Amino acid sequence: MTPDPSTPQSLFGPRLRIAPSPTGFLHVGTARTALFNFLLARKTGGKFILRIEDTDKERSKKEFEQSIFDGLKWLGLSWDEGPDIGGPFGPYRQSERIDLYQKYLEQLLAEDKAYFCFCSPEDLEAQKRDLISQGKVPVYSGRCRYLSKEEIKKNLSDNKPYVIRLKMPSSKIKFKDLIRGEIEFDLNLIGDIIIAKNLKEPLYNFVVVVDDYLMKINYVIRGEDHISNTPKQIVLQEMLGFDKVNYAHLPMILGPDKSKLSKRHGATNLIDYQKQGYLSEAMINFLALLGWHPHQEQEIFSLDELIEQFSLERVQKAGAIFNINKLNWFNNFYLKNLPFEEVEKRFLDYLKTSPFQSEIKKYPLEYFIKVLKIELPRINKFEDLFIQSDFFFKEEIDYPKELLIWKSADFNDIIKALEDSLNLLKEIEEKEMTALNLQSKFMLFIEGNDLYKNDRGKILWPLRVALSGKKASPPPFEIIEIIGKERAIKRIEKAIQLVSNNNDY
Ligand code: GLU
Repeated sequence: MTPDPSTPQSLFGPRLRIAPSPTGFLHVGTARTALFNFLLARKTGGKFILRIEDTDKERSKKEFEQSIFDGLKWLGLSWDEGPDIGGPFGPYRQSERIDLYQKYLEQLLAEDKAYFCFCSPEDLEAQKRDLISQGKVPVYSGRCRYLSKEEIKKNLSDNKPYVIRLKMPSSKIKFKDLIRGEIEFDLNLIGDIIIAKNLKEPLYNFVVVVDDYLMKINYVIRGEDHISNTPKQIVLQEMLGFDKVNYAHLPMILGPDKSKLSKRHGATNLIDYQKQGYLSEAMINFLALLGWHPHQEQEIFSLDELIEQFSLERVQKAGAIFNINKLNWFNNFYLKNLPFEEVEKRFLDYLKTSPFQSEIKKYPLEYFIKVLKIELPRINKFEDLFIQSDFFFKEEIDYPKELLIWKSADFNDIIKALEDSLNLLKEIEEKEMTALNLQSKFMLFIEGNDLYKNDRGKILWPLRVALSGKKASPPPFEIIEIIGKERAIKRIEKAIQLVSNNNDY
């Protein structure tokens, strides 16, 4: 049944929205706002609406809009109404609603609640300087408020450029924020804001109010950076005779240095985390705890558990620190605790969009699955396989020769140990190169050899470094099983050469 559009917002069940502007890729802060709105909608049996705020024609791009859809879908935050699926109060893209806004602009002008302002940028600059020199707040002086009907008519027929300003009352306004409590703003410090560039180009504060009204939104949950817009929007609602809306402003997301999260602190686009191979479960869990705290010690939450437990009362006022180590911890947890078939499925999805395509093309998928299986205990996210375990995908590896040294061994000991490994390996047939088989062959050799039997590291350390070039890696036999006999032999020979050259010890 289509709801009757004349029904006041307050008579609907909770209707919440995420209203991103497609002027950049979906930001993690917007994803967190979307999550909190989604959780509350699902918890209360309300609706979660996606509205694309693309009135800024120059900066809005389709690719950014797509990243909003993709990012929310990746997180599993499904919406009930939106540009792609429609709904009873559509369209849900502001660029497709332009005709709807004009009526309300005309209403404000007709009721003398808004006015045409013809001040040029130079006029505005001069007025501002004047106000500052008088020690006053440099808001718009209100000069065009007092133009006569004739003057306005003449200016318009002369095609004089104009904007439309709101007659801001000179009073204070109070509202109750569901997180921050009562908040008061002095409207004199805001002044007559511009609500439209012209009748066809309305601006943000105005369109948000009209859309929230027409879409019957009754809860606006958004970042604290919008808090200074709220008094302007409440005044507009009052002037247009719209219903009141409940507001909640979420704490800002901060970097570890407590400044606003920015690229300086790492990736800020949600999609980058997907590309790095984080799991959506980890991201959801991490985002949920950016500003919200459960009442018990629990840290791991599925989306369903979050829906059950989430409440605005437990959202903090203070900024929330974005700690990447925490995200890594969550991801590591989910990698280890999800069934391997599920991890494998996500990994295959990750490979499709991974930036490491040149490596990916070189090997069959089974090869990557093998690497994933043995590296799982050591990685935080899928990308780590290509960075910390790059030796699986390279022909040649580089490392300082000193890394080959085990305890107090000298280079001659290393050469001897590597040669022993080489000889052993050469005796084993390619088809017998399983980790288990290699392990038993090497152990048999080690047990019967006085040089190694009391300290296996003497032979196994240089072997492992020769194969991986790393301080930490899976055991050498598992590496050999994956990279194969030929590559293993080449790497050991290269290590022998490396230590033999300039043997300056
Ligand atoms: N379009 C605004 C933004 O992307 C959000 C508007 C709102 O939530 O009221 O920041």
